[in-house]
Amino acid sequence: MIKEDRLLKAVDREKKIRMILASSTGVVEEARQRHQTSATASAALGRVMTAALMMGSDLKAEADLITIKVDGKGPAGSIIATANSRGEVRAFIAHPQADLPSLYPGKLAVGELVGRDGFFEISRDMGLKQPFVGRTPLLSGEIAEDLANYFLSSEQIPSLVSLGVLVGPDLGIQSAGGLIVQALPGAADELLEIIERNAAGLGPLSHALYECDSLDRMLGMVAYGIEYEVVGGLPLKYRCNCSYERLAGILASLSRDEIVEICDENGAVEVCCNFCNERYVFQGEDILALKSEKP
Ligand SMILES: [Zn+2]
Repeated sequence: MIKEDRLLKAVDREKKIRMILASSTGVVEEARQRHQTSATASAALGRVMTAALMMGSDLKAEADLITIKVDGKGPAGSIIATANSRGEVRAFIAHPQADLPSLYPGKLAVGELVGRDGFFEISRDMGLKQPFVGRTPLLSGEIAEDLANYFLSSEQIPSLVSLGVLVGPDLGIQSAGGLIVQALPGAADELLEIIERNAAGLGPLSHALYECDSLDRMLGMVAYGIEYEVVGGLPLKYRCNCSYERLAGILASLSRDEIVEICDENGAVEVCCNFCNERYVFQGEDILALKSEKP
């Protein structure tokens, strides 16, 4: 088992093939506890979060954000994960308790829980007026295949994507992680074939990560037989950006009547953050005071 949550980025000698390998077990376990997800929902949410973390590691500026939104009209409802370039992610799932029987022992029905009648959307917020949004139809709802399809049809980058979450009998996350291999124009086909063969030889990624005790060693197995160099690394964590002040600001944007209406008999209002399930209690009069301070 790999103890720390982290990702590694590597390139081949010609810098035509890039690889991102992530171990996100602790991050997905924290999401499971915060959202109280079922086994299949943990897997779906964990895959989306891990994909967002890997893509977030390509962002340039500190404040840039990447958001993956998946909505396949399945029992899970929509799933959203937002990550930044510092390895921080937060996530939301509409129906965390939704679950389905496994397809066979060890194979959670993620595609069925997510559904296939919908879209896979990626938006990059680079601090401009409008975020850049790309959207492709869902293929399988299994997330990895959908992300590979997104890279190919939306960004014209052939990619190998593998995402896995291993859920224990007690619903705890035993391992989680992801692998993205991308071929830039001019990449040698034989190198890609070697990596594909290596990745296939590892079996399901979540099991391989569970068996392995070092992310560097795992990367060595993925890239076995080719010359490569590690060009970056990042610790990963679950982190929400909500705060008392931020939510108070949102409440203060409601009208006076609306604020009065949502307060309970004690004049208080409780708000729960969708992304981390943190609860905040506000006094209605504090919110109204905040409102009158605004110009
Ligand atoms: Zn939050």
